[in-house]
Amino acid sequence: MGPTARASEHPTEFVGGHRQMLDRCAALVVAAGSGERLGAGRPKAFVVLAGRPLVAWSLAALAAAGVPRTVVAVPPGHGAAAEEALAGAAGDFPLGLALVEGGATRSESVRSALAAAGDADAILVHDAARPLAAPELFRRTLAGLAQADAAIAAARVSDTVKEAGPDCLVVRTHDRSRLWAVQTPQAFHAPMLRRALDVPADVLAAATDDAWLVERAGGSVRVIESPPSNFKVTTPHDLAVAESLLC
Ligand code: C5P
Repeated sequence: MGPTARASEHPTEFVGGHRQMLDRCAALVVAAGSGERLGAGRPKAFVVLAGRPLVAWSLAALAAAGVPRTVVAVPPGHGAAAEEALAGAAGDFPLGLALVEGGATRSESVRSALAAAGDADAILVHDAARPLAAPELFRRTLAGLAQADAAIAAARVSDTVKEAGPDCLVVRTHDRSRLWAVQTPQAFHAPMLRRALDVPADVLAAATDDAWLVERAGGSVRVIESPPSNFKVTTPHDLAVAESLLC
């Protein structure tokens, strides 16, 4: 499917600069975690969810969004299983679907995948562990780059959030009207993400999301409100909820 065919599928949402941004973007799907908390005896990305490997749901949504190239970071030693699981998706990306070995931490996996992203101007980073991210969320997050160095999917916090010390005594209550729970997808201008990831190993290891590295580098980050369905599959309960939403 060429860029012209894809453009006609989303005529109202992606016009002008946004359309160009989509055509010049690559997605990095990080799927190299062990998924120990899921207890499935295999990497979380390959656990079957509603008939397909968990990671395949994100690839289908990225392809439907019109992203032309995707790189998936898979657990070291699972290359053959990954190739088998993802073989069917290769034809969905006109500029290719590549697999790379992930690293010991999430950010190292992002860095490995970025090295295989080619000359894309914009990068979408997504956790394979969020299989219900919709094509519309990928497109909206990418469009957020028009106003910032990074744009990140996030959910408004509905619970009151308190901070407690090691003794479990509360030291502070935060103003929840300003709080967001951060998710993926996260979109970046490619040079900014490269600069943000160019940090010592200990800083990289401390990062639980890439946007924090952009903040550290002095970049601006915009939140894009996401729907409740974009939750992370961590436990068997999450997997059961995702299954019930997809079936
Ligand atoms: O562990 P957590 O749920 O925060 O992981 C978020 C995402 O990062 C998952 O999709 C997981 O596969 C990925 N990850 C990775 N490489 C690692 C650790 C996590 O690609 N070393």
